[in-house]
Formats: sequence, C-alpha cells, structure tokens
Amino acid sequence: MIRLSKVSKTYQTDKVETLALKDIDLHVEKSEFVCIMGPSGCGKSTLLNLIGLLDRPGSGAIHVGGAPVASYKDKHVAKLRNNTFGFIFQSFHLINDLRVIDNVELPLLYRDLSAKKRQRLAREALEKVGLGARMDHYPNQLSGGQQQRVAIARAIVGQPQVLLADEPTGNLDSKMGQEVMDILLKLNSEGTTVVMVTHDEQEARRAGRIVRVFDGQLVA
Ligand code: ADP
Ligand code: ADP
Repeated sequence: MIRLSKVSKTYQTDKVETLALKDIDLHVEKSEFVCIMGPSGCGKSTLLNLIGLLDRPGSGAIHVGGAPVASYKDKHVAKLRNNTFGFIFQSFHLINDLRVIDNVELPLLYRDLSAKKRQRLAREALEKVGLGARMDHYPNQLSGGQQQRVAIARAIVGQPQVLLADEPTGNLDSKMGQEVMDILLKLNSEGTTVVMVTHDEQEARRAGRIVRVFDGQLVA
C-alpha cells in the first residue's frame, strides 16, 4: 500500500538545518494497523506527513498503491492524497459554527456528488462512529471523545483506503481514548489501513505492528 525507500527529510529554517528523517525504509501493507512510536522530536509527525503526501521528501522514493509519487506534479499528488488518505489529529479541528453533519460533509464538497448523496454518506460515517443521534448538534455541545469521533467520521466519509492519525488520543482521558481506539480497530478490521502516532504503549500493543523511531531513524 505504502512504500518508503531511503527517504530523508531536512528542514531549513534561517541558517539552521534539521535532519528530521534519515534513510527510512518502510513498507505498510494493505489492511495493516501500524503504530509509530518514539520520543518527542524524533520525526514521527514528519514521517506521517510524508506518508500522507502532505510534504515531499528531500531524497528517496515514496510509492502509494504502486504509484511513484516523486514523478507526480503537485496537482496530481493532491488528487492521489484526497483519494487515498483520511487524516485525524490530536486536536479535532472541527468548525464550531457548523453542525456535526455539516462538518463531516466537508471533504465531500470537492467531489461531484449531489447534496442528498453527501448527506447520506455523512450520516453513514456518523453512524459508524456511534454518533448517529448527534448529527444536528454543534461540536461544542459534545465531549472531547465525541468530537474526536466526529473528526474520525469526517476522515472516513470519503472512504479512504488509509487512515493516518497523529496522536488521536493525546487530548483524551483514558476511557475516551479507548473508545477512539476501539473505532480505529473496527475500521481496520473492515479493511482500512491505519497508521497512527502514539505515546501510549498499551494502545500500541492493540495494533498489529509497532515501528520505533529514534533521532530520525527507524530502530525497530
Ligand atoms: P508533536 O511533538 O506532538 O509531534 P510538535 O509540537 O513537535 O508535535 O509539532 C507540531 C507541528 O509543528 C508539526 O506539524 C511540525 O511539523 C511543526 N514543527 C515542529 N517543530 C518545528 C520547528 N522547529 N519549526 C517549525 N515547525 C515545527
Ligand atoms: P515528532 O513528531 O516525533 O515530535 P517532528 O517530526 O515534529 O517530530 O520533528 C522532527 C524534527 O524536525 C524536530 O527536531 C523538529 O523540531 C523538526 N521540525 C519539524 N517540523 C519542522 C519544520 N516545519 N521546520 C523546521 N523544523 C521542523
């Protein structure tokens, strides 16, 4: 599904160069659940951003579903990204002025779908995360765990093959975190590939595979 070969990434700010990732070789197969772990600043977010085609590597090759991304123009990369990935972050990034269902519909606005079809898909995504009864609420009427589930519904509404999650439970207490993890595991069992950054060893053990990063390199 995703293959990184000898991928490196350097950030340049003013006169400071930071080597964030060095010679990463990583293969994520279809329907895997992979957790990325490692200390703060080791390159986890950078790795997730490269996998999700949000950024380009300085060197090395990335293949998504066999497609050689390096040879693609930005516009083509954006299309591949939108058709392949759903994203979840530590903070939920919901729009508080929009009802839950309208938040979930947002990624579909770029697709050629009728309003009716968009609403049906958004409703189905919300039902999948157990929030079918909250469609007409506003985000700030929900708990943190429920808001993250709305964000998951928004991430899956376009039926992505891969879900990328950067510390999705980082702002939640352990009970809500477990509920979010339960949903990610369920989506994975239904065939969605999941790559998740986490600091929580217990959570990571529930996933299929743990990839450990240290100082920009894969160590295990
Ligand atoms: P985490 O440690 O939870 O992964 P960070 O707080 O390190 O998150 O980073 C949050 C965001 O800020 C990331 O998207 C990252 O790319 C960006 N970032 C991190 N470090 C720097 C930096 N030194 N300069 C500019 N942006 C940074
Ligand atoms: P993690 O997610 O493991 O906390 P990051 O991938 O956010 O690590 O960061 C890896 C390294 O790259 C850190 O030293 C961070 O400060 C640096 N970094 C991340 N994003 C940027 C950025 N946009 N500009 C400059 N430096 C960055």
